[in-house]
Amino acid sequence: MNEVRTRFAPSPTGYLHIGGLRTALYAYLFAKKHGGKFILRIEDTDLERYVDGSVEIIYRTLKNSGLVYDEGPDVGGAFGPYVQSERKAIYLDYARKLVESGDAYVCFCTKERLEKMREQGATKYDKHCLALPKDEVRRRIEAGEPYVIRQNIPETGVSTYRDLVFGEIAVENKELEDNILIKSDGMPTYNFANVIDDHLMGITHVIRGTEYLSSTPKYNLLYRALGWEIPQYLHLQPIMKDASRKLSKRYGDASYEDFVAKGYLPEAIVNYIALLGWSPKSTQEKLSLAELVELFSVEGISKSCSIFDEEKMRWLNGLYVKELPPETYLRLAAPRLDQTSAKGLDYPFLCSLLQGRTEIFSQIPELVAFLDEWEGFDLSLFDHKKNKTDRTVAKALLPEIVAALRANRDPDALYGELCETAAKLGVKSGALFWVMRIALTGAATTPGGATDMVKLFGKEKSIDRLEAVAERL
Ligand code: GLU
Repeated sequence: MNEVRTRFAPSPTGYLHIGGLRTALYAYLFAKKHGGKFILRIEDTDLERYVDGSVEIIYRTLKNSGLVYDEGPDVGGAFGPYVQSERKAIYLDYARKLVESGDAYVCFCTKERLEKMREQGATKYDKHCLALPKDEVRRRIEAGEPYVIRQNIPETGVSTYRDLVFGEIAVENKELEDNILIKSDGMPTYNFANVIDDHLMGITHVIRGTEYLSSTPKYNLLYRALGWEIPQYLHLQPIMKDASRKLSKRYGDASYEDFVAKGYLPEAIVNYIALLGWSPKSTQEKLSLAELVELFSVEGISKSCSIFDEEKMRWLNGLYVKELPPETYLRLAAPRLDQTSAKGLDYPFLCSLLQGRTEIFSQIPELVAFLDEWEGFDLSLFDHKKNKTDRTVAKALLPEIVAALRANRDPDALYGELCETAAKLGVKSGALFWVMRIALTGAATTPGGATDMVKLFGKEKSIDRLEAVAERL
């Protein structure tokens, strides 16, 4: 087999959709699995849909998620330019060749005529201009009349190809329309540019969404007309929000960068979307990019749609968060902690309490919400059946806890010392720590136990709080 070359060919129309990133990921995995090249091409021929800044989002997202491309607009390569708007002359050249060979033709039909045709029930263009004599075409072009170039599709026969995911695809030629290849502004359509570029860039495997599954026969006719080898195709089912809706910007839940901003780690996103439409032979779900490259196989690609399950991505993210080096966790958590009452506390220590409890970084305010509960908390929190505690028990225990705290010299010994205090008083240590934690925070749940709270607040503040609560009882 020749060197495998795949490409990701996004249109710069805004943010990078999770579905788009998954297409890029599969193209990357396929290329790398076969020791080949992964190429980025920007498909910006639809000027009306162009959104400023989206090319940068594409570069940023691919880099950030580890999908390093071997060739592309900003990294160069031997098959450039990799931006379609910079290849205008190339497409025109090939379109002219196709006109000469009769596989395409010049069409002057006006918008009005096309609309009228449609109103009268036509479902596709009627090849009206195919019959125009060559010299009339030349004369009208020279006179400056606007025109497009259309593909001349045979009216009979069947076009077939084998998709590596879906198998045999057959489309009757009469179903196919004479698509526009070159628009009146001289720009190619996707229908044309994808063929020219995939060929000239040496793409061996075209990996893209199923929306192109049934137009691929038309593209194959162009490859044949130009005498080119047809690439292999892998069409991917879309990612759905639920059984009937595609994941999309409309539902505000599909942008890669939004997920990152919510506190997902790129590795976890990549891992999760790899599993959306592909499954490894094993049941292992946590897979690094390198492991994905190793395991990726066409057989594992699903023929049915997959449903995006944020709960599952969150769970997977939690596995990655737990494995972060503490300094990385701290770096990612700190800006979020700064926005909460944790500001000013011992972050490295607080983070050691939070890391194992974090699935996603946006949870941080919720995880430190206990810091805001002390002021005027409800004293009935001391009531705990299993621990056999209530306000009266708390009132008796708090001075003893304060005394133990005052006597403590080594913070690491505090836990043991308090256990001894409990034994001496004839109460369970669980009861003592319950009372102590409530009195320190006013919260029924905290990350870490009572002695962790002392470490977090410091001895002075802890004693102040315990005494203030004793006063209230
Ligand atoms: N520019 C096309 C899109 O964004 C690419 C399709 C393809 O990969 O061929 O849908």
